[in-house]
Amino acid sequence: MVILAITEYPEKVLKQVGAPVEKFDAELERLVSDMFETMYADEGVGLAAPQVGLSLRLFVMDCEGLRLVAANPEIVSTEGQQEGEEGCLSVGKIHAPLRRAARVRLRAQDVRGRVFEQEAEGLAARCFLHETDHCDGLLFLDRLSPLRRDLIKRRFLKMKKRR
Ligand SMILES: [Zn+2]
Repeated sequence: MVILAITEYPEKVLKQVGAPVEKFDAELERLVSDMFETMYADEGVGLAAPQVGLSLRLFVMDCEGLRLVAANPEIVSTEGQQEGEEGCLSVGKIHAPLRRAARVRLRAQDVRGRVFEQEAEGLAARCFLHETDHCDGLLFLDRLSPLRRDLIKRRFLKMKKRR
């Protein structure tokens, strides 16, 4: 397994709508294991393909006991609201409060292409939404107020420069 380089804001691939996953083959299996490895190495709970430079609708997650691969993810339904902090490996793990749905139902395909649906709440529900957003070319920053978004962008770019 290989630890992949994480793409960071403002790289373009993070803004692109991912292409659908069409081939469920050994190459996809390899990519998925590398993505898990990369996510664990960075202590993340979810990682989407655009975050490793690939414009694909694909994410992996391991959050509150829910470990899964989601190819071509879709949010089927959402319910309620939750308050909480959110961060992203592509934005230097800087956290900001962001309101999200409390319960989320996801439909996706597993690594073999089998369609499944999964429900989650709390942090795992937040993860479904955050990672599906990545597949649509959206960062959690895009869901913040313009003021907070600018603040975090500036903090992150400053942090990046100091590295
Ligand atoms: Zn993220």
